[in-house]
Amino acid sequence: GRQHNYLRISLTEKCNLRCQYCMPEEGVPLTPKSELLTAKEILTLARLFVKEGVEKIRLTGGEPLIRPDVVDIVGQLTKLEGLKTIAVTTNGINLARLLPRLKEAGLNAINISLDTLVPAKFEFIVRRKGFHKVIEGIHKATELGYHPVKVNCVVMRGFNEDELLGFVDFTKDLPLDVRFIEYMPFDGNKWNFKKMVSYKEMLDTIKQRWPDLEKLPCETSSTAKSYKVPHFQGQISFITSMSEHFCGSCNRLRITADGNLKVCLFGNSEVSLRDHLRSGASEEELVQIIGEAVGRKKKQHAGMFVVPEKKPAMTRENNVEVLLWEALTCQKERRKSFLNEAELRKASPVGQVSVDCQFKEASPGSEFCTRDLGSCTKVPRASDNLTHTDEEGRATMVDVGGKPDSRRSAVAGAVVRLGEKAFGMVRQNQMKKGDVLAVAQIAGIQGAKLTSQLIPLCHNIPLNHVEVSLSLDETRYAVVIRSSCQTWGRTGVEMEALTAASLAALTVYDMCKAVTHDIVIEEVKLLSKTGGQRGDFSRV
Ligand code: SAM
Ligand code: SF4
Repeated sequence: GRQHNYLRISLTEKCNLRCQYCMPEEGVPLTPKSELLTAKEILTLARLFVKEGVEKIRLTGGEPLIRPDVVDIVGQLTKLEGLKTIAVTTNGINLARLLPRLKEAGLNAINISLDTLVPAKFEFIVRRKGFHKVIEGIHKATELGYHPVKVNCVVMRGFNEDELLGFVDFTKDLPLDVRFIEYMPFDGNKWNFKKMVSYKEMLDTIKQRWPDLEKLPCETSSTAKSYKVPHFQGQISFITSMSEHFCGSCNRLRITADGNLKVCLFGNSEVSLRDHLRSGASEEELVQIIGEAVGRKKKQHAGMFVVPEKKPAMTRENNVEVLLWEALTCQKERRKSFLNEAELRKASPVGQVSVDCQFKEASPGSEFCTRDLGSCTKVPRASDNLTHTDEEGRATMVDVGGKPDSRRSAVAGAVVRLGEKAFGMVRQNQMKKGDVLAVAQIAGIQGAKLTSQLIPLCHNIPLNHVEVSLSLDETRYAVVIRSSCQTWGRTGVEMEALTAASLAALTVYDMCKAVTHDIVIEEVKLLSKTGGQRGDFSRV
């Protein structure tokens, strides 16, 4: 039932940038020029697709604005009757220079890719200079009346997830639609979910700062979920290709620079339109070939959501992938066992379903939830009195958007008993692995910052300050750890302080385990906390 009225045409495989998530440093292997579509061939195919119902064409790449005849191609496309929108997705480097001519030729929508607002980070991620040219391009587009100017920002953990609020501010005085795109690990076999920040997590971070964020209505075929800060000129959107794919309403087709038709971004090329064109196929034949390819389009994309048959071996680098494998496999088993709802209900009275799965708390729609919502069997209701469950009894994060900001702090502690020998070596800084106390201190600080990623229902909150100190207690041959965290926000930091103390303690263990395994970690506890509705706490 999907109407494919949107065609994306890649004008070139080449690019003047080398974004780390898209291209290798040396660029992609290039197809010989003679095998690429000429402008004339592009227009012939475009005419055919428009005749068959395509209403929107997006020019993309590689970088479409490095193709010398791009203005001419736009000018020719404008003449196609029935084509309502000609759009371009560009990295923005050549935009300010070309835009007046492109506009005159008929270009009426622009997406500009920009993943950071920090020039040095821009140079790092795209491996080239040019930040100011992109910003100039964005301003030029707004000056020339493009409304909204879409800014594509691929959000990557550890790179730019701390810039979400900066990008939201960018929409304050400019008519932009900043679109936060979930990073896609393109190579389906080499899972790299670690870099992906889910839509839910981004929204949570933004709502903490902007609790009044308004949800905007969206079109059926739109891939974006849009929001707006009241009174801001622009808006923000999320492209949730990973956590909530939109295959069911996908209306897109793609033609690659060498003339292959792709009916799905994640599928292989279906058919070479270039070869058929060059061997003299008639218009009717081409329409039939295209129709057959579209008819073979799958219900949803493969690759990303295919769970490997065998559990990947656990290494230091891929623990997240292995956990995801376990979560997804477990969910599959769970779905199988939930097929007979009546039997399940007989066997499990309300509130007593036991699911043997460490990800049983994944809420519907979360990135860990693989449930097909249409066919999902309902889990019995849990008590309405529980604060961290949804209406179906599954664990969910509390929405803290409505809580007032206040200053919050927490102090936690832990003790690591090392025994006499290891203790002596730590004191003399003689451990082969290095300076135990210094490494553990850094680990504790890192741990505090990573808490929301480690503890499932913890919010991702901005920490104003983290301090971890380690001292030696000769009477117990122990390292005594104390961590303190502070924030100005809507939720407390006790989990951050406890995670910091725990991580520091585990690091002490790791640094000393070559000398002895008789190490005891004890007294991991909250020492005090201030701020928040439930008042202060202090251990006496
Ligand atoms: N060169 C142009 C540009 O960068 O806008 C057009 C082509 S580029 C491939 C189209 C879009 O795909 C860009 O917005 C880019 O950020 C996005 N993209 C590329 N690799 C991606 C990935 N691994 N995950 C999510 N988006 C990606
Ligand atoms: Fe890929 Fe676009 Fe970056 Fe070029 S600018 S490397 S095509 S994402």
